[in-house]
Amino acid sequence: MTAPLPNRPSEVRAWCLARGFHPSRTLGQNFLVDGNTVDAIVAAAGVSAGERVLEVGPGMGALTRSMLQAGALVTAIEKDMKLADLLRESLVSFGDAFSLHAMDMLKVSLDSLLATGDPAAASPDGAGMMPADMAAEPFFPKFVSNLPYSVGTRILIDVCRHPLAPQTCIVMVQKEVADRLAAPPGTPDRGQASVWIQRRYRVEIVRIVPPTCFWPKPEVSSAVVRLVRHDDFPLSDGEVSLFESITKTAFMHRRKQMASIFRGAKMAGGVTVPDASRWLASCGIPANARPSDITMADWCALARELGR
Ligand code: SAM
Repeated sequence: MTAPLPNRPSEVRAWCLARGFHPSRTLGQNFLVDGNTVDAIVAAAGVSAGERVLEVGPGMGALTRSMLQAGALVTAIEKDMKLADLLRESLVSFGDAFSLHAMDMLKVSLDSLLATGDPAAASPDGAGMMPADMAAEPFFPKFVSNLPYSVGTRILIDVCRHPLAPQTCIVMVQKEVADRLAAPPGTPDRGQASVWIQRRYRVEIVRIVPPTCFWPKPEVSSAVVRLVRHDDFPLSDGEVSLFESITKTAFMHRRKQMASIFRGAKMAGGVTVPDASRWLASCGIPANARPSDITMADWCALARELGR
């Protein structure tokens, strides 16, 4: 029988070494070995008894166990089959409160996962056609994860732009990613990730976490970020496509001026920008503004204007 996983984060290192388990760099396996940080993440998430939580990359289960102990119902997606087996066994005492899917988060059906909690279920009728800003009840009100470095931003953006995105996300990411997620207009970190996330979420950096809190130690610091949904910038489905297309194009040329980026540019759905200067002027944006200067309200105005 496989030995159970360590109960406390501080035991993780010794546990791995004793069993010859070598954390994978490719899978971003930097395990939390600091109990204070685990407590801080769970406290920031404010998980309550009976609340459904999605976790990506439970690893050895430091966060998972703590959330289960708080009474949460945790659904976890873990790509590493060996860890998944060990984790299932280690957390068996939590019964149905814990469900684990040994899958690659980048390959699951998000429509199904976020609508039913089951990543393998057939997509519910019409899920793929849901309006992007539909005010539906998400299956998971919370998404709490220490995300793998290499694919963390992609996973977070995929989840957050989904119509059934959780109300609150508490995620640990690299500090520089956190800075980009939180960057206001007019700052050098402002980019595509900032505007895609901030259109739907208020972003707050809760805590900086040094490399010493992980094993193995990563090269850079991490940060815990809290994202809370808002409805300040609603857009229609078509406008969301245009918003994403416009901002993606803009931040690919972040040093250029807006008028030159969009001169004759082709956007989502084959929509072209016939006269970039006039389009910008109609939204009160100077032709020589740079993408990082544009506010969220102005990005949304540009999308609406182009979709008319
Ligand atoms: N939650 C644990 C902790 O805090 O100690 C582990 C976090 S570790 C930074 C990232 C975890 O994500 C690892 O367990 C890794 O195997 C898993 N992982 C990496 N890529 C993944 C993917 N595409 N889908 C699901 N899990 C993934």
